[in-house]
Amino acid sequence: MSYIPYHEPGTITMLAGPCSIEDSEQMIEVAQTLKRLGLRWLRGGAFKPRTSPYSFQGLGEEGLQIMSAAAKQCGLSTLTEVVDTKNIELIMSYVDALQIGTRNMANFELLKAIGGATAQNHKPILFKRGMAATIDEWLSATEYLTQGGNPNIMLCERGIRTYETATRFTLDIAAVPVIHKRSLLPICVDVSHPAGHVDLVPALAKAAIAAGCDALMIEIHPCPQKAKSDGPQQLTMAHFEELLVELRNIAAAVGKVIV
Ligand code: PEP
Ligand code: MN
Repeated sequence: MSYIPYHEPGTITMLAGPCSIEDSEQMIEVAQTLKRLGLRWLRGGAFKPRTSPYSFQGLGEEGLQIMSAAAKQCGLSTLTEVVDTKNIELIMSYVDALQIGTRNMANFELLKAIGGATAQNHKPILFKRGMAATIDEWLSATEYLTQGGNPNIMLCERGIRTYETATRFTLDIAAVPVIHKRSLLPICVDVSHPAGHVDLVPALAKAAIAAGCDALMIEIHPCPQKAKSDGPQQLTMAHFEELLVELRNIAAAVGKVIV
């Protein structure tokens, strides 16, 4: 198992991949693209926390097998969301890093269980902000994870609920400098879920880099029109590749490289 750290000084870690793992052709195409672009991480959801029980819920363990095979082929590390205490060990056996989603930021029993399960192995955790949580509440919840002794935690701003409906969520870009001021933990910005639509992703990603993010999360899919979840916000491989050129220029302007 590789333990590529989420964050090294001077770098911005790109956490890209589809919203949901759907099949092996999809994951191999994404993994090959990431590898060719010099990136290290592949994300993908296998246990999906969907708003509606009638929406695609993810492939579960089969999805983890598909993602880990694609990642192995391309030498990438993997990240997936844990939604339930009963799947922590299973998920840890397949992936390099665990994600805790916005809907579970305040699921303290899940946080305690993940903190405990990673206390020894120090598996990296990506801890998303609750969509209705203040930064104080988010940082306080982070201590449920750090209490177990795993120092390898990265926070992730992913947009909050406000009265605005023009975007899916309101990206709180100020969370980036606030976290840098209040915490030593690195901060990722997920630009896809607040955007809700591909058209808005580039501007949010550029803003996140300029604001000082340590990592970026971007959802990408070989054929977004056919995606089983979050189709409108996922970039095609070509669009992502084009955007990455621009993002690398912005990163260089703030003295960082995207890996
Ligand atoms: C995700 O990244 O797949 C996801 C469901 O994100 P969030 O928890 O931010 O909605
Ligand atoms: Mn998604």
